Amino acid sequence: MRKPIIAGNWKLNKTISQAVDFVTELQLLVADATDEVEIVVAPVFTVLSTVAVVLKETRIGLSAQDLYWEESGAFTGEVSAGLLRDAGCSYVIIGHSERRQYFGENNEMVNRKVKSALDAHLTPIICVGEHLAERQAGKTELVIHDHVEGAVEGLSADQLLASVIAYEPVWAIGTGQVATPDQAQEVHAYIRRLLVGKYSKEVASQIRIQYGGSVKPANALDLLSQEDVDGALVGGASLEAESFAGIIAAARRN
Ligand code: PEP
Repeated sequence: MRKPIIAGNWKLNKTISQAVDFVTELQLLVADATDEVEIVVAPVFTVLSTVAVVLKETRIGLSAQDLYWEESGAFTGEVSAGLLRDAGCSYVIIGHSERRQYFGENNEMVNRKVKSALDAHLTPIICVGEHLAERQAGKTELVIHDHVEGAVEGLSADQLLASVIAYEPVWAIGTGQVATPDQAQEVHAYIRRLLVGKYSKEVASQIRIQYGGSVKPANALDLLSQEDVDGALVGGASLEAESFAGIIAAARRN
């Protein structure tokens, strides 16, 4: 049984007080849901340590949105895995398409980040996904192969199982154009097949693969009820506690 994981990627949004208000409200809305579903929020760096205090007695997990793979030193502006742990994080999003698109992240960088997260006992949420032109050119599987192989290069089976993969078609992120449940299922099943080849059937059947891209309370159940969809990485709809809780409720109903 793979426990569904619903994670909210807040991107560049929310001040400290807005974040505290949000998690306080969310906690009340999902008070009885946290056993069946893993719930995670990913605020900006400056908010993490304050929100960590509020979340301490709850089962809502805390994630960062990125890290740098070096532990310390002359790397102005960067934040390491150890510092994220120190701030109270248990998860970190790695290789989000916005990082790839605007900050030049490539598969090798993603792989280094994944390894440094795992070394610090953070759960990496590894994002993979194709652009619209790539899908239209029939290259979806090629891109996913490239992203997944690159991200997990050199990871042991245990390290892979300590990670989460998020399939996020870039054309569906922030566009309102959600992948159909069939489109999501097709790519999730492909990722699992890839991992059967690289690891084993057992390992591939255990790793959790989230879908991300315009997930809302109204479409969450259809997506989450697909056989290989084990949760959601949510952007826009994670900014309001009620809509995020609506997606969590869909994961419980499934
Ligand atoms: C995301 O940022 O990872 C995302 C999926 O955003 P949205 O839900 O807004 O499409």
